Amino acid sequence: MRITPCQAALAAAIALNLLLLLCSRLAPGASPRCHHPRRGAVPDGVPGVTVILRDFDGPDHDVAATARSFAALPGVPVLVAAEVSPYPPVPLPAGAAVLSLRPQPHRPPPRPELAVRTRHVALVPDGARAVPGLLRRMRDALEAASDGTVRAVAAAVGTRRPRCLSLEVDVKAWTARYGHAERQGDQKGDQKSDRHGDRHGDQHGDLCGALDGAPVVLLLRTRDLFSLSFPLSRPVVTSLSLQAAARGWRLLLLPAAFPSAPRPPPSPHALWRARSASDARRRALLEELGVKLEVLPDGSRRWHGCAKDTPRCFGTVRGQTPEYLVAGRWTPPCCLRALRATARHVLAQLEAAGVRHWLEGGSLLGAVRLGDLIPWDYDVDVGLYREDVPKCRWLARVAASGAPVEDPEGFVWEKAAEGEFFRVHFSRANRLHVDLWPFYARPGTGTMTKDAWLGHPQDVEFPERFLVPLGTVPFAGVLARAPNEPRAFLELKFGPGAIENPEYPNPALRRLAQDLGNKTEQ
Ligand code: ZN
Repeated sequence: MRITPCQAALAAAIALNLLLLLCSRLAPGASPRCHHPRRGAVPDGVPGVTVILRDFDGPDHDVAATARSFAALPGVPVLVAAEVSPYPPVPLPAGAAVLSLRPQPHRPPPRPELAVRTRHVALVPDGARAVPGLLRRMRDALEAASDGTVRAVAAAVGTRRPRCLSLEVDVKAWTARYGHAERQGDQKGDQKSDRHGDRHGDQHGDLCGALDGAPVVLLLRTRDLFSLSFPLSRPVVTSLSLQAAARGWRLLLLPAAFPSAPRPPPSPHALWRARSASDARRRALLEELGVKLEVLPDGSRRWHGCAKDTPRCFGTVRGQTPEYLVAGRWTPPCCLRALRATARHVLAQLEAAGVRHWLEGGSLLGAVRLGDLIPWDYDVDVGLYREDVPKCRWLARVAASGAPVEDPEGFVWEKAAEGEFFRVHFSRANRLHVDLWPFYARPGTGTMTKDAWLGHPQDVEFPERFLVPLGTVPFAGVLARAPNEPRAFLELKFGPGAIENPEYPNPALRRLAQDLGNKTEQ
């Protein structure tokens, strides 16, 4: 078939129209897909820096003066981001606006990312004062960073220099680990930047995971900020550092600093109120981000999860799959700590009373694998000889009365509601527990059996020879009693290869492979 030049022109025109239509449909408005190959919900924006004021509090804040100072810079929009407008009302200068973050029934949902039109944004703490050119230098330092992990640039506010810390966030383990960051000047990064003739001055900063000890201005790309799940959570610097660390991003701390407004020293009461409000916000943030343990640079630990006087961190376990496992995380560290403490207490009590006992099930598996609880386990299992129960006074009292008994150290011993076994809880409030399974030898067979069966595949009878004599294995910081051939015992219960091939207790609901390889679930 022959095509005339006229037909060809017509076909070309139709194709071009279709293409234009497709472009405008795919990306209404700015149509970033047609003009920019980069993907993402937030368009790149126009050159410039938007200042966001987020961390301010109480009646004594400095928002109006801070906003005035930064809005006086040419072409710098200022947004005061808050759940509700500051009250009493703050006289904002031209170029500054309130960005309301609280959803309201008569308004569309707050979309702070739509309020920022510039390519870069600076989160400025209350009381900072602008320095002409410094925001631009911060932006240039960010864009000049040859290391793609540098996603934010920081500059101190005031005369104190912040401490530069390393930060590692282990999402699965609910843990943030801080350390002392190496000085950037000691590393090969300096030589690298010297090779680029166009780099100078401010690029020489310290690479940090987190900053501590002084307020900072943080500058980052707008699209990076709004790619975070909690872009404007407070305290801003803590929130951004934790989310950045979970993505492998780092902060470049420049030597330059912004001045801070001279303010009269706060009264002791105002200081106390500010501290407790900031502590409460910090705790709420860690809860929101799922950080239950902070390991500080000196090795000390700050716990944020469950304790003796609070409920445990997860609800009733169904299908051998606790809720944290469904969320792609492992046992909260506070719970592991409480389980270890309960296990050590119970094992010591049984040992002192002369009750023959041994680690069972997943606890023995963890002991043989790593000398500890399996990192996703939710209880501890211990077997004991039923005929020895009366030797332990707590078990004897529970068996006689049927009622729970709280021992002097606050652990609660009780008969399980689910069947013929005992349970020792970390406390009355916190139901993390050790299960005690009474076994007895079936007469004339040499086989150990029991009366409580919960239908778990590993729950099987076994030859008594594993217990005569009992052996030991390291577990949760102590030497625990165990069957004398623990590997053979575990293979009998869990099947061959159980020690070498870890798997979640109920792979039909959740498999270990789903959670390995991806350090963070994003
Ligand atoms: Zn806990």
